[in-house]
Amino acid sequence: MDLEETFRRSLYTSYGENKCILLPKEEYIKTVGELLEATQAPKKSRRQFYLLKKYKLLQCGDVQKLIRKKPNQEHPLYFATIEETFDIIKRAHIATGHGGRDKIIKDINKKYANITQDAITLFKSMCIECQRKRKGTTTKGIVVKPILSKDFSSRAQVDLIDMQSMCQGQHKWIMVYQDHFTQFCILRPLTSKRASEVAYQLLNIYLLLGAPSILQSDNGSEFTVQVITELKQMWPELVIVHGKPRHPQSQGSVERANCYIKDMLIEWMSDNDTRDWTVGLKFVQFQKNSSHHIGIKRSPFAALFGADAKVGLISSSLPQDVIARLQTEDDLLSAVSHPNPVEQSSEEAEPVPVSPISVRQEEIRLQREREREPEMPSSSRQGEWSNEVALCFLVCKSEAM
Ligand SMILES: [Zn+2]
Repeated sequence: MDLEETFRRSLYTSYGENKCILLPKEEYIKTVGELLEATQAPKKSRRQFYLLKKYKLLQCGDVQKLIRKKPNQEHPLYFATIEETFDIIKRAHIATGHGGRDKIIKDINKKYANITQDAITLFKSMCIECQRKRKGTTTKGIVVKPILSKDFSSRAQVDLIDMQSMCQGQHKWIMVYQDHFTQFCILRPLTSKRASEVAYQLLNIYLLLGAPSILQSDNGSEFTVQVITELKQMWPELVIVHGKPRHPQSQGSVERANCYIKDMLIEWMSDNDTRDWTVGLKFVQFQKNSSHHIGIKRSPFAALFGADAKVGLISSSLPQDVIARLQTEDDLLSAVSHPNPVEQSSEEAEPVPVSPISVRQEEIRLQREREREPEMPSSSRQGEWSNEVALCFLVCKSEAM
């Protein structure tokens, strides 16, 4: 019996025991039917009142989904079936770099209403990579306390991870650059630990994101001074002072944090069946920056850019099975422009949930308007515009009144 099957059976068993909130698919389909009936029933039974209180129906193209009924919900939260749960948790677990329960929950709660902690714990206990990590030198749970910084780019740290035992072409080192305030990290493969090579990589970063006032390193002040000197040769206007390395007592925890990056990299290589860690580094960097950081109570990405990282339409509020079928922009439009809102007679009218797509569409709309100002709007552009408005407002429209 494979892992997924074992996982499913365990969820079926707990459903059988206490009818917990994760529904088998059969029960899910039955509930959708009951809900449709309930919306049309002139006189409602107790069960129908219960269903109408708990669920809303979201029609997306030809798919009907149960979503949580909650006022002022910004994005729809989907009810998952037991059959979908393994994949949903797996996606979140991988996206967070084999993240722990809390990271997975934060990720899943953006889109789903009913994935239980028990299901996540069960999944985690079954992950082969995580089991391997638990047996070996575990670095889980080590949080390096950030040194106080007032804003982005006030203080940053650059460290090196030794990869000489796993040379990939010319690459033998990893440069770990981290902003202290946002915990945003940038990882680069290096061929040597020379200050000039580190400085060259930093210049690339600084000309993209700006440079910090203070730079520090656990490689010691001498190394930091050399790096700053090299930087200054390439960018004479730049002034950076070197900070004290972290307190000697915290040295160990920094080493462990760098070990954690190495662990994530090894897991990525195993998941993707490759030895090329120079590619994995880019993914681990994204996993680290886009997943929840307990110290700053958000993702480093959100701390820096003000919004969570997006992975294309995966991050939209469309249902997963609808996303999987989309290929062209026309597909996307037809998925969102035939909402056939399910009428749900209810005393209180609730605001229509707005999807992340709508925010982007609103940006596009404003930009278009700005571009359009000098010229008269053409009819074709108006057509385009109305399609975008359709995208904007109809994606998640789940009820008519
Ligand atoms: Zn894992």
